[in-house]
Amino acid sequence: MDLGIAGKVALVTAASKGLGLAAARALSEEGARVVMCARDPDTLARAAATLPGEVLAVPADVTEPAAPGALVAAALERFGGLDILVANAGGPPQARALDVTDEQISQAVNANLVTSVRLVRESLPHMRAAGWGRICLITSISVKQPIPDLALSNLARTGLWAWAKTAAADVFASGVTLNLVCPGLHATDRVLQLGSPRDRLGEPADFGRVVAFLCSAPAAFISGSAVSVDGAASSGLL
Ligand code: NAP
Repeated sequence: MDLGIAGKVALVTAASKGLGLAAARALSEEGARVVMCARDPDTLARAAATLPGEVLAVPADVTEPAAPGALVAAALERFGGLDILVANAGGPPQARALDVTDEQISQAVNANLVTSVRLVRESLPHMRAAGWGRICLITSISVKQPIPDLALSNLARTGLWAWAKTAAADVFASGVTLNLVCPGLHATDRVLQLGSPRDRLGEPADFGRVVAFLCSAPAAFISGSAVSVDGAASSGLL
């Protein structure tokens, strides 16, 4: 299948490792020109060098309020447009629901909710002007089935999902789709650090290809969806 995204410009944030890097690689393999960010410049440069296509690596902390605007500006300056946004950020620390502090809630909401909203806000005018755009927000299966010791993730990501559901309807007529991608356990540094059971972990490369499909031309009628990529781990019907 031709995904129809060769030459498109894609911004993938938090992309030097794990799921973000897998998404950047899958888009690059399909011929997209990729702008990617992460905080550590050396790791980012090494990751960028492994992508097959044109890449611009911009060291940045995506959770800083000014970062989304700067990243979109970098994409416009280097490649002349922005067609695809894959919004990702590091996940919050483990915490049970009754143990979370106000400060932790603020940080999680900033990183895993407001940062994505900022990225969409900055990207959308350029997609609307082109009459074509694809937005994927990397979240977690916790939007469908809260995870008991990831209360901060549950809290921030469900808020993002509620926002995204209405935003998707508002932008669809402009030719822009907006979806959540909801990973279950994948073999990345974060999961290995959290000490998750390793009996059945997803492959980041497969996850990246799902993201690339959702960002493709034939996925034009998939919008406002929260797509689970979890190996049947969640048990709800939605
Ligand atoms: P990972 O392997 O730890 O990789 C995180 C990547 O994001 C790194 O490139 C890191 O680079 C970058 N990053 C982190 N914070 C950043 C920031 N503030 N600004 C810019 N870049 C940042 O993590 P992952 O497993 O791929 O997880 C990605 C997201 O998916 C997280 O939100 C995680 O909670 C969620 N998730 C993952 C799984 C899973 O199974 N892996 C499951 C559910 C949800 P720097 O440290 O250099 O910035």
